[in-house]
Amino acid sequence: MYRRFNSGKVYGIWIDIRHLSYFYYENADVTTNPMKKNMLIFAIMVVALNNLQGQAPEPVMLRNVTVIDGSGRPAQKNMNVLLKEGKIISMSKDAAKSNTRVIDMSGKTIMPLLINVHGHLGMSKGTTIGPESFTREQIAKELERYQSYGVGTVVSMGMDKELIFSIRDDSRSGKLSGASVYTAGYGFRSPLGTKAPEKGMEKIYRPTTADEAIANVKVLAALKPDVIKIWVDDQGGTVEKIKPDVYKAIINEAHKYGIRVAAHLFYLEDAHALLDAGVDIFAHSVRDKEVDDALIAKLKSKGIVYIPTLTRDAYEFFYGTTQPWVNEPFFKASLEPGVYDMITGSEYKNRIVNNPRYQKNKDAYNMALKNLKKLHDSNVLVAMGTDSGAQPVRAQGFSEHLELQLMVEAGLTPLQAITVATRNASNALRLKDQGVLSPGMRADFIVLNSNPENDIKSTQSISAVWKNGVEVNHGPLSK
Ligand SMILES: [Zn+2]
Repeated sequence: MYRRFNSGKVYGIWIDIRHLSYFYYENADVTTNPMKKNMLIFAIMVVALNNLQGQAPEPVMLRNVTVIDGSGRPAQKNMNVLLKEGKIISMSKDAAKSNTRVIDMSGKTIMPLLINVHGHLGMSKGTTIGPESFTREQIAKELERYQSYGVGTVVSMGMDKELIFSIRDDSRSGKLSGASVYTAGYGFRSPLGTKAPEKGMEKIYRPTTADEAIANVKVLAALKPDVIKIWVDDQGGTVEKIKPDVYKAIINEAHKYGIRVAAHLFYLEDAHALLDAGVDIFAHSVRDKEVDDALIAKLKSKGIVYIPTLTRDAYEFFYGTTQPWVNEPFFKASLEPGVYDMITGSEYKNRIVNNPRYQKNKDAYNMALKNLKKLHDSNVLVAMGTDSGAQPVRAQGFSEHLELQLMVEAGLTPLQAITVATRNASNALRLKDQGVLSPGMRADFIVLNSNPENDIKSTQSISAVWKNGVEVNHGPLSK
């Protein structure tokens, strides 16, 4: 709760207490008159409650700050940024006198909060995956974790339970703190046959026919998911893919309700077929072959969102060797209890290295890097997603910063990678007032101790996270 007691609200309480003191002074018999005494106590309680429940914060001027605005333009130095009522009012080099509270931010850099267009909530707790993790308490903790890493928004991509819809509504109305929640609700996979459902996927729809798929979409659409998720992948030849007539029916029906469809995919051939069927979002990279010109042309002409989720593919083999960041506090702070010991233990390492798909997993990752660079250079709308939270090893918060680094390894500049994770991700979600720092936009940003323009790892130097013009935490290492 202390995080809600930012200085803005404390200031607000001070003003209110001053008024109450005046009330007390004017009503000197308040301590002897029980009715007036009760009124005073009631008034104090109302004031305290109002201040706890997120009134508009006082205006603040951030002075001498370096701004990476998320649009892709180079960092602007020595800027003065005025925040009021949760928005950015002005940004300029003029240090106009103002009677607002001033925070000297010399040496600091601000950039928009990160937006993760493909993540998962409530999937795992500790080192295990299972439906028992899908609780309000666990998800609230995960949303705070994301936010402590400067991730302001997360799309939970299709493995949710009933609870997600009330959590989503509370998150978006501001009743629930932490990263803002968007959800695909219950995704669509191929029929199970005689197999049991995978852990955490109990609510997934598995229609066998187009008619059944249409009926499922009608039920789901009534719950108003932000997007619909389909899996079109044989998972390395281990499962059946959703049949094209079934996914076509899902896409057509979803579009009748104005809901876009995101596809988990792997193969170039499926990418083409999905685009022809009207899919709106690729939730992962094309990983078997290099993308061809025809695919690029289709992606561009239809304004398709491409979410690379490089970390997802990296985690398939990264933990087989000791990664340079594995002992860094910034990584460790993102893990559920027990996960660090698991991933650094020899049993887990051996399982990764001895996986018959080890080399294939590496090849898929390298193809994902290559395709990202090619698609980004071709001006396809690439938006950041990580698949974090789907498994204990896909750490929420850390993964989004690793994704930025991997995008740079793929050949993007640090500024381009940041733009993918901020403006582009905001555009992918069709958000109007975030993803870029400019007048009129929400005052949602990360305060960094060093400028990531030339060193992407500097996004990890988090000094504070601000949301709606209020400082909400001091990064993951402050606890
Ligand atoms: Zn996923």
